Amino acid sequence: MAALYDDVVVGAGSSGAVLAARLSEDPARRVLLLEAGPDYATVEATPHDLRDSTWISVVRHDWGFKADAMKGREIEYPRGKVTGGSSAVNATIALRGVPEDYDEWARLGNSEWTWSRVLPYFRKLEDDQDEGGPLHGCGGPIPVRRWKASELLPLQQACLDAGRALGFAAVTDHNHPEATGIGPWPMNQRDGLRVSTAIGYLLPARQRRNLTIRADCLVNRVILEGQHQPHLHHDRRARGRLDARGIATLALTRVGTDVSLARIPTHTTPDRSAARTPARSGGRP
Ligand SMILES: Cc1cc2nc3c(=O)[nH]c(=O)nc-3n(C[C@H](O)[C@H](O)[C@H](O)COP(=O)(O)OP(=O)(O)OC[C@H]3O[C@@H](n4cnc5c(N)ncnc54)[C@H](O)[C@@H]3O)c2cc1C
Repeated sequence: MAALYDDVVVGAGSSGAVLAARLSEDPARRVLLLEAGPDYATVEATPHDLRDSTWISVVRHDWGFKADAMKGREIEYPRGKVTGGSSAVNATIALRGVPEDYDEWARLGNSEWTWSRVLPYFRKLEDDQDEGGPLHGCGGPIPVRRWKASELLPLQQACLDAGRALGFAAVTDHNHPEATGIGPWPMNQRDGLRVSTAIGYLLPARQRRNLTIRADCLVNRVILEGQHQPHLHHDRRARGRLDARGIATLALTRVGTDVSLARIPTHTTPDRSAARTPARSGGRP
């Protein structure tokens, strides 16, 4: 079965879910989002390990990667395998980078990443519950909050007190560009709910007729035919082929997953055996 899409996004994680949601705001585009892990269509249907922002989820929705921390020492390398990707399992620390780092990236050649260029997008994505003004966003899909003094555990309070006694400045907003000191970090959670990109971005976009989300769909090969020809996507489970007439974006986690890219001249026939090539997931069975 072949279907035509304008955009195919592979990987529904922090980046892919946002991309698919934003692209599908244009009703004229047909967007397909492919995800290797499962998908939960509502907050109620989302399992507790993904909803609970007080604990990271590193077993049920994880790829099971390992990493060599140093010679002879292997460690777990958690990465989310579910719509929302690692944002669905992570520690919800919503901390921006420091402006100097973005400006350095721009100096190194990525001119779109200056602090002044990225700040409007930080503002756009967030709904800051505590801070306002030109540095913070209001009304965006991702809520940002910090622990209030009344919510701190005695150990956390003792840690803050110790830091202050040692001379560290008290910081109420670590997302302020000049913040240096000690204080609670900003978090993307609401009433204990981890607000992943699956919840913040995909949930409101799901009802769109031009957005298709396919979960449990491991992509193992993307074939680009010619310069402007359809992109073909091979889906291991369904052993299917999907055609797109527009852009294919790989929004995969940076480690572990093997998706091969092949460019085929327009006059040759694609190798149909590609659909039968198993991917090395590197994960647990
Ligand atoms: C346990 C943990 C805690 C973390 N805590 C924080 C934190 O508190 N604050 C913070 O800022 N960052 C944190 N991070 C890091 C942050 O979550 C990641 O950097 C970020 O989510 C990466 O986004 P991404 O879009 O690159 O990848 P991901 O969000 O990992 O998304 C990749 C998606 O692609 C899918 N995929 C991969 N291969 C294929 C394939 N072949 N076919 C189909 N789908 C595929 C994956 O299943 C996944 O859904 C944490 C990460 C983890 C794992």
